[in-house]
Amino acid sequence: FIDTFCHLIAQTLERLRLAAQAREAAIQADAEALRNALLSSISHDLRTPLTRIIGAAATVIERHGELATSERQDLQIVLDEAQRMAELTDKLLDMARMSSEQIVLHCDWNMIEEIVGSALNRLNKSLHDRPVRTRLPDSLPLLWIDAVLMEQVLVNLIENAIKYSPPGSPIDIEASSLAASFRLTIVDYGAGIAKDQVDKVFQKFYRCHPESEQGGVGLGLALCKVIVEAHGGCITAGNRPGKGAEFVIELPFPHAPPAPVEAETGEG
Ligand code: ADP
Repeated sequence: FIDTFCHLIAQTLERLRLAAQAREAAIQADAEALRNALLSSISHDLRTPLTRIIGAAATVIERHGELATSERQDLQIVLDEAQRMAELTDKLLDMARMSSEQIVLHCDWNMIEEIVGSALNRLNKSLHDRPVRTRLPDSLPLLWIDAVLMEQVLVNLIENAIKYSPPGSPIDIEASSLAASFRLTIVDYGAGIAKDQVDKVFQKFYRCHPESEQGGVGLGLALCKVIVEAHGGCITAGNRPGKGAEFVIELPFPHAPPAPVEAETGEG
């Protein structure tokens, strides 16, 4: 009797486990559907009209030289704010795409000098005449990385250096190769980050000074972390004595492409 009883309990427990598994799978499928709906709604319902507002405001400012100063200023506010909202929307979209396990790297052999160069090019306008001092030794190895995503990481870090340090102060970008890894450091001359916040800044939506007008939604560094970690690397924040914030990216080195998979011939 005891054997039959134990058998019955084991069967019931197994059924409950399978039912729980099925429910978990259904919840995950619902969450995925919700995420996709949110993504397409953000991109179509928000990004598209914002792009049209930016285009229209920029055209009016460009074409109508006869605008009164106050009108021009008002339009510039419309343009700046719409651009800011568009940037935030893009970051939300990027984050939603990348925080799922869907992140797909398109890696290739890349020179870090080129990626730094194109990130600086993209930020040319916001840099104004701020000095960017790069130390990228000639001997740097090629890296097996996704150039588009790694450029995005650099853009986010340099944008932050611009936002959180006084206008005109320099930004230092240094690269070096260590025995087993490649290191890239971005240093600014702002107030830096409080010691108890250096880890928190990589959390989604975390801002050290949420009351401040400055800054965005707190997603830029979370995105950097997702991208760097997808490459098998790590990113840390700290402060340089006498300078400001310091962000260090470390990527395992040497980075090699995965070995090609041999096609099965079915012979032999
Ligand atoms: P945000 O869009 O607010 O800049 P991030 O994720 O890029 O979001 O950064 C998170 C927070 O970390 C920022 O709100 C800011 O308080 C702090 N932070 C980031 N970079 C720097 C920096 N270079 N110097 C000082 N604080 C920084």
